[in-house]
Amino acid sequence: FPSQEELDAYVRLLEEAERRDHRKIGKEMNLFMLLDEGPGFPFFLPNGMALKNALIEYWRDIHYRENYVEVSTPLIMNRRLWETSGHWDHYKDNMYSTIIDEETYCIKPMNCPGGVMVYRSTPHSYRDLPMRVGELGLVHRHEKSGALHGLMRVRCFTQDDAHIYMTREQITEQIKGVVRLIDEVYAKFGFKYHVELSTMPEDHLGAIEDWEMATEGLRQALEEMEMPYVVNEGDGAFYGPKIDFHLEDSLGRTWQCGTIQLDMQMPQRFDLTYVGADGEKHRPIMIHRVIFGSIERFIGILTEHCAGKFPLWLAPVQVRLMTVAEKFSDYALELAEKLEEAGIRVEADIRNEKIGKKLREARNERVSYMCVIGEKEVEAGSVTVRSGKVGELGEMSAEEFMDKLLAEIALKEM
Ligand code: ZN
Repeated sequence: FPSQEELDAYVRLLEEAERRDHRKIGKEMNLFMLLDEGPGFPFFLPNGMALKNALIEYWRDIHYRENYVEVSTPLIMNRRLWETSGHWDHYKDNMYSTIIDEETYCIKPMNCPGGVMVYRSTPHSYRDLPMRVGELGLVHRHEKSGALHGLMRVRCFTQDDAHIYMTREQITEQIKGVVRLIDEVYAKFGFKYHVELSTMPEDHLGAIEDWEMATEGLRQALEEMEMPYVVNEGDGAFYGPKIDFHLEDSLGRTWQCGTIQLDMQMPQRFDLTYVGADGEKHRPIMIHRVIFGSIERFIGILTEHCAGKFPLWLAPVQVRLMTVAEKFSDYALELAEKLEEAGIRVEADIRNEKIGKKLREARNERVSYMCVIGEKEVEAGSVTVRSGKVGELGEMSAEEFMDKLLAEIALKEM
């Protein structure tokens, strides 16, 4: 380091990264665990599932608004499918397989081939296009054990996938639509990001003309939107070029999350068609896209970004009511029930423990709102509230508190 200041800054950054490490916070908040019984295959605990489900609910809401439909395709499919898709030749080393009835089956590393089978199962007209099909697919990819890292690099994760089938004329508009959607979602979480355009890799499928057309489609969408980007030569997927979104977290580290891939190979290999206005069969073009990328990794990044202090709509434990003595238990339990009925994730800590200890634990578990209940509160029908983010809020009536929570949850802000 050229100067002491730079060294100090670096040490501070390392300390801050350690303090925010999602593996440490994940343990303290009981979000997930990783065991030797399944290296790289995370277990999600009830608190982690509350967070994951809140993210998924949000994902479904925006898809519904954007006219996506949702499907779910099998985890295990015959090797022949993966030969057709090209994965067997280009991705085999990252795939797990198994034998069923003396035939080789693969555990899906991507959702595309399954999604394509859904498209192929019915005839389509140009009037159906663009067709937007979402899938929250659990995928498995082999990673070397040394590369595994918490939720950031795992062997099994949920992709918030979608495939868009469209005509050539629709490419630019559809890509712009997806870029806007990704931008909206990242803004919601307070992430800055940068964009990279990855072009044809050495190991690829299909004709050069198709690649040029597809790359041009992506480039044009970015340019029309005046979105700055850098070009990553040769880093595209084996079936098409892509736009990658790299999130920047609060420590300035970047993480690849969203991608938009344009694909003319898969529709060809699976002989996908639609009937055009001319009554003839045509080949659709496909977009593969993810917004979070891997929900597991996104949770890891978000955990470090906000140091476990999630926005209220995502927080696993939104409220904890803590009694100062056992005789206030009934009041706490009654209030907890009322909050729960309103859809708030609430816990009541009515143990016979010192309030200091209860508060300490709640703080360590990053509970969003910690409420102390004693004589004064029971008499007034109130709670004394402490926010995990901004500190003491003082006493307020139970109704006022509930209204405040519901309003904050509905806002869905960081
Ligand atoms: Zn795909």
